Amino acid sequence: MMTVPMLDLQAQYAAIGDRIESAVVEVLRSGRYILGPRVSALEEACARYCEVPFAVGVSSGTDALLMALMALEIGPGDEVVTTTFSFFATAGAIERVGARPVFVDIEAGTFNIDPAGVRAAITPRTRAIIVVHLFGQCADMGPLLDIAAGHGIAVIEDAAQSIGARRDGRAAGSMGTIGCFSFFPSKNLGAAGDGGLVTTSDPGLAERLRILRDHGAKPRYFHHVVGGNFRLDEIQAAILLVKLEYLDGWIASRQANAARYMELLEPAAAAGRLALPVESPGGRHVWNQFTVRLPDNRALVAVALDDAGIGHAVYYPRCLHQQDCFAGLGGQVGDCPVAERATAEVLSIPVYPELSGGAISAVADTILGAVGLGR
Ligand SMILES: *Cc1c(COP(=O)(O)O)cnc(C)c1O
Repeated sequence: MMTVPMLDLQAQYAAIGDRIESAVVEVLRSGRYILGPRVSALEEACARYCEVPFAVGVSSGTDALLMALMALEIGPGDEVVTTTFSFFATAGAIERVGARPVFVDIEAGTFNIDPAGVRAAITPRTRAIIVVHLFGQCADMGPLLDIAAGHGIAVIEDAAQSIGARRDGRAAGSMGTIGCFSFFPSKNLGAAGDGGLVTTSDPGLAERLRILRDHGAKPRYFHHVVGGNFRLDEIQAAILLVKLEYLDGWIASRQANAARYMELLEPAAAAGRLALPVESPGGRHVWNQFTVRLPDNRALVAVALDDAGIGHAVYYPRCLHQQDCFAGLGGQVGDCPVAERATAEVLSIPVYPELSGGAISAVADTILGAVGLGR
């Protein structure tokens, strides 16, 4: 039996391990371990890649979001509008600075935040919108940027899953006020541990983010604001510098894998047994996840995949407005019906770059069999 994991980081490492190891050994021998030349080089390379003037390497995607809100001086009494369908960190950051998350529903096709919902959620207390580019695809930025400009509020792009994604000719993380990226190992550009990045076109914000990263000090031991230890290690930066060279090739492989799934699973979509992911026109989807909807038969398909030794995951099984830790905000079942329905239907399947053609066929055949379209 062919087993197919959800993600195969060992396969990636086998291909480039020699280069990674020499880069790491170089750092170890250099004696410079924190905020040294490799972090600076990575920041320059990522700024170029993301088409922004400034990039600041940080400790994680979660800390990138927290720092973005801190840099914008968002706190108690402020509201931040965001999607209810994302990884927890998006909302956790808002609560952690003392502001109030205001959750909005998604578009059924792309799983990204619905601009109409954002427009309806704005109040005089709204200071920012955190837009998530979910699963590798940019949200509908045109109307979102218009809404923000009309109200004089900031746009934070949570591009943790979408480095390299584009929309209408612009790169993820270059469109809003601040872009936040994650180098968690499962992201398209993953470190060997935790890491993240913040991007901006505003020199003042870039400077504030650099200061916040190191306890708000400038120069060292003179503190303007209370920041944190949000620093990126030299070892992670060295690894990421090597891996950045391969990112576009990996994205191309993810796109080819996604295209193949689209073909193979089309009969199930045509029969109404499954809905394929929807690509927005005018974008570059980088396929961090390939997520289908299974309205009637997700549990059955999951069991069939388990039996076949094929990895799968539900991103995400519960909306943010329904999380216990946000019960105090008064979120109710039915507040965000499109996202609530998605939590019951979505299933993500392996789409990582090293996936073989045979593995893709095995995954597709297993799904087709489970929904009653087996050959
Ligand atoms: C992974 C992720 C984060 C958090 O990144 P970490 O580096 O794991 O802290 C934030 N938002 C989204 C949408 C993510 O997928």
